[in-house]
Parts: sequence; structure tokens; C-alpha cells
Amino acid sequence: MVLSLLQKLYRENQLNSEELLFLLTHMDAADRGKLYELSHRTALRVFGRNVYLRALIEFSNVCRRNCRYCGIRAQNSGVSRYRMTPQEIIDCCGRAYALGFRTFVLQSGEDPWFTERRVTELVASIRRRFPDAAITLSIGERSTSEYEAFFEAGADRFLMRHETASPWLYKELHPDMTMENRRRCLQDLKRIGYQVGAGFMVGLPGQRPEDLVNDLLFLKDFEPDMVGIGPFIPHSQTPLASSTGGTLEDSLVMVAVTRLLLPECLLPATTALGTLHPIGREKALAAGANVLMPNVSPVEVRPKYQLYENKICVDEDFEHCQSCLRWRIESVDLDVDMSRGDSPASRHLFKSPHEIQGLHAGSKFTQGSEEHATNAVSAAGVSEAGQSSTGAGARYLP
Ligand code: SF4
Repeated sequence: MVLSLLQKLYRENQLNSEELLFLLTHMDAADRGKLYELSHRTALRVFGRNVYLRALIEFSNVCRRNCRYCGIRAQNSGVSRYRMTPQEIIDCCGRAYALGFRTFVLQSGEDPWFTERRVTELVASIRRRFPDAAITLSIGERSTSEYEAFFEAGADRFLMRHETASPWLYKELHPDMTMENRRRCLQDLKRIGYQVGAGFMVGLPGQRPEDLVNDLLFLKDFEPDMVGIGPFIPHSQTPLASSTGGTLEDSLVMVAVTRLLLPECLLPATTALGTLHPIGREKALAAGANVLMPNVSPVEVRPKYQLYENKICVDEDFEHCQSCLRWRIESVDLDVDMSRGDSPASRHLFKSPHEIQGLHAGSKFTQGSEEHATNAVSAAGVSEAGQSSTGAGARYLP
């Protein structure tokens, strides 16, 4: 029964909820091996041997939210808060660009200092300086008009995990958020034209196989361009400190099943998998993942951005990080791809670098001189620094 379900999933890229539940609850080690073989084969068919590298810039660990699993939640007074200035973020993009990266992922907590104006000016400046690079935002829930403004300024992609598709679990984990708004955000992003990333955690307290089936069915229905899947890893300074956490094996199964449900999605081998196991990311690449996101944030801020503890790659400079990842990718017989790596579903929008540049050419944020854009961003970083709610300036907060 399990093998026939695996074959059906491989051939048809879908299973119903009963079939998915049966699969998740009846696979033995041999079945999982078969699953990984089929998911890897699918990734090779769609993407070839290419593994896309994205430059991850964690530019602020300030967050107004209190997700119960998260180490940088607002109520964790043990976190040393920081916020990079717009100019520092742009400089970071420049270093990543020089190393060959053509996707910048700008990630932060939900930091109110980064207003609509500041984010649009930042995105426009990056777009102007690096017209052939993709700009991905991962900055949480915003209004529809803000998402529209960021897109108009030049952002191409937006990552926002749905976290869990089960209403009871979502409510349990997110005291000051609603699943309705999360979904509104994801729908907005898709409608506006972003390449959208969703995703979820595996091994959350109380999470049942039925909840994971909900996640898989949500993804199949929503059809995101990217899917981030990672194990839940407890953080000692959160309300979930004493929870058990997710396993590597369960996470790999979800990566592999997602690859078979959504053959064209971009699927990162997440850092959390590398934290659970020394070759967790390689195992994910061999199970259908095809993206790695090395951290290119300044080394001094990296230890402060810990959604979970014992995160790997916080000390290495990113030249070292890049060569380490290259070695890891080649160890599983795959190849590094430094190109933008757009979602296959969106490739019709991006036929050439020239057209990519043209996409945002009419934006009010990308018109005018580069000097003007840069000055606008720098001014935002400096003049507003003293207005931070912490009163501590733009850079490193107490
Ligand atoms: S998971 Fe994101 S939104 Fe939630 S507290 Fe952490 S950084 Fe903030």
C-alpha cells in the first residue's frame, strides 16, 4: 500500500488527505529511502543538478511579535537587539554581489522602525545598484498597500511561512496574531505578483500527523513558488523551552513529500536541518531540496539572530561559508548555481536580465539618480536614528 501510494504521488503529484495520512503514519526506513529516491529524481528532472545559493541578510532582530517558539520574540529580554542601517544592508548586498550572489534575502523580525517609506527606499536603492539581482523580503505581516509599495520599488519575492495550517495550533503558538491575517498576507503577495514562499515547522508541541497533512494540503492548494520546511528546535528563553522538538527524519519526509506534491517549487535545505545533524542539509538536498541560503550578515550580529539555539554558521565569514557550501553541494553530486534561480512558474515573467530590469523601470521609487536614492536611504538611517522606540540609535540596540 505504501509503495503504491509513493508511486501515485510520484506520477500524479497529488494524494488526498486520507492517503497522505496513511503514508505519513506507515512508512518504514525502506519506504523513506524510496520516497527520497523519487523526490530527488523529481528535483533532477525539473531543475537538473542545480542548487541555487541565496545571500541571507538578517538585518534586524527587533520584533513586535511574541511567537511562542521564537528566540527573538518581543518579550525575550535576554536578547541583545540590533538593527543594521540601510547603508549597512546595501553594503552587505554589495559584498554578496561581488561574490557572485544574484539573490539577496532581506530578513528581519517585525521591526516597526522599518516603515513603508524606509523599506521602499531601501529596496529601490538595491534595485538600482544591482538591477540583475533578485530581491527577496522576509519581514513579516504588512498591509496590502505596503506590499504593493515594496513590489513597485523593486522587490521580486517574499518569504512568509504559514507556520502551521491547523487553526488550533496556529492560535496556540501565536498569541497576538491570527491565521486569517497570515493567509490574507500570503494571498495579497501572490496577487500582487511576488514569487511567494510559504512553509512550516515540523515537530511542534502537540502537532499530529493530521496537522502535517493540513500543511501539505494547504501548500498544494496555495502553490507557493518556494517552501521553507524546518524542524522545530526549542529555544531556552521561550515558553516552549522544555518541549522536545522535531526530528531530522520527520523533516526530511516533509521535504520529500513536498517536492513530489509541488515538483516546481524552490525548496531550501534549511539551516535548522544542519543544526540538527552535521549533514542534515546534504540529506535534504538528496531528498529533493534545491536551495541553500548562506548567511552573509556581518559576523558580529549573527549570534544575535537566533530564532532557535545552537544555530550553525554564525562565526564563519561568508567567503568561507560559500566554499563550505560548495563542498557540501558537490559531496551529494550536485552543482552550485549562483544565478537568480527564479521559480519555474514565474519564468515567463523574467525572460532576460533586460526584462527583469524593465519590470520595475516605471516605478516612482527607481526613477531619478542613483545618488538621490542612496542619499534618501542614508538620510533615513541617520536622521531617524534617534527616534527609535528604544532611543538607542539605528545600529545596535540595548
Ligand atoms: S517568528 Fe518572526 S514574527 Fe514571530 S517573534 Fe520571531 S521574528 Fe517575530
